[in-house]
Amino acid sequence: MSDIISLTAAELGAAIKAGETSSEEATAAYLGRIDAVDDQIGAFLHVGRESALEQARAVDARIAAGEELGPLAGVPVAHKDVFSTKDMPTTAASKILEGWRPPYDATVTARLREAGMVILGKTNMDEFAMGSSTENSAYQVTRNPWDTGRIPGGSSGGSSAAVAAFEAPLATGTDTGGSIRQPAAVCGLVGAKPTYGGSSRYGMIAFASSLDTPGPFARNVLDAALLHEAFSGHDPHDSTSIDAPVPPVVEAARSGEIEGLRVGVVKELDSDGFQAGVRQRFHESLELLESLGAKIVEVSCPSFDAALSAYYLIAPSECSSNLARFDAMRYGLRVGDDGTRSAEEVMSLTRAQGFGPEVKRRIMLGTYALSSGYYDAYYGSAQQVRTLIKRDFDAAFGSVDVLVSPTTPTTAFPIGERTEDPMAMYLADLCTIPTNLAGNAALSVPCGLAPEDNLPVGLQIMAPALADDRTYRVAAAVERALADRDGALLARSPYAVGA
Ligand code: GLN
Repeated sequence: MSDIISLTAAELGAAIKAGETSSEEATAAYLGRIDAVDDQIGAFLHVGRESALEQARAVDARIAAGEELGPLAGVPVAHKDVFSTKDMPTTAASKILEGWRPPYDATVTARLREAGMVILGKTNMDEFAMGSSTENSAYQVTRNPWDTGRIPGGSSGGSSAAVAAFEAPLATGTDTGGSIRQPAAVCGLVGAKPTYGGSSRYGMIAFASSLDTPGPFARNVLDAALLHEAFSGHDPHDSTSIDAPVPPVVEAARSGEIEGLRVGVVKELDSDGFQAGVRQRFHESLELLESLGAKIVEVSCPSFDAALSAYYLIAPSECSSNLARFDAMRYGLRVGDDGTRSAEEVMSLTRAQGFGPEVKRRIMLGTYALSSGYYDAYYGSAQQVRTLIKRDFDAAFGSVDVLVSPTTPTTAFPIGERTEDPMAMYLADLCTIPTNLAGNAALSVPCGLAPEDNLPVGLQIMAPALADDRTYRVAAAVERALADRDGALLARSPYAVGA
């Protein structure tokens, strides 16, 4: 069993295709691993044991019948609970959707199935994807496999923890302000935020529609690229989906060639206030990139300093509008409907009980920012900052191919440390948010462990819209060079298998 689990997703897909193992065997091995460790990690909200084994047997039959399937056919995947799945509950970790079963699959879900992948279950997250630690889940705590006293990042923390604890070889996530890159960084994984519109939002429970982007988690760069390719691409069901081919991320991940590549270091995303070990590993990666033939230059993006403030007006504004649909009439929870109360009272009681404190804070902030008399001062000026950030990116990409920064200012923090201080929590996404506001591509790749706490550090690589392949190319170069130097990073985690 540990043999199967220690394979990369690419290797497992190849072994299944070659008949050396079966999807059923692989799925059973991962279900066994979930049984063995998820009590300690808490990554899954729902494990679809029977449906996973059924899907696995079905894909084994398709392969046996000679059907041509993609490179991940038969490979299990953990799926963030923000994606609609018609055969499993979908809650976005909120009480307001407890027990809800969607009538249809999200496009990302449907594409995983078309690729022959096996959905093991649904992973924990911050309620409606609002948070950076998964502590805002209405259901359970998820622990970081590197140190179970610490957070796995968020909002996609169940997905990052599942992959880091070898409970799944791959997982899906969504990134609105950093919710894939930040958990990937603090769990020692590769996590990518595709170009906005490069992956479909159809059937994904909306938080901030102009920012939400589905993307992959994996233990290595090639696996992330394979999953990225499997579920991305144009979707007529999503009006903001881009009608263009998926950038050649798999080819880039296999190549890793960066000779002559111009790499810009964003001055505004490297501060004295960051953890010393994070900065140390970041600066070492710059030397490493230079030794591999890249040209390193410093770049200034002055508007990035206002990104966090603009994000915390735009994202809550969109959330206040998106979450209006949870009205006690159409979905999930309904409180106090005893025949004596008006619809408005039922709605109000339901929303008071169904939403957690962070979600309520966002709805109130957003409603305020959008209210007449305040709209121009708050939402309007945040939109102007957004334009300035986009211009900073455009100017920078006029002279460099990619931009880099640390993914997060610190390594994984202790559970409970920031729950009483929303501002401290929001700062976890300082470096990731500019990319969401501009809509371009970015990825986090592990760049070592911080010497002071032996916890993973992520290097963020940002590229222009639809140039996602560049982020994979640089990540592959870093991954290879570090493996040659230090060996496999995840092998040092207490929950590593094989490696
Ligand atoms: N942590 C950020 C927030 O709370 C980003 C969340 C996300 O990307 N979904 O809004």
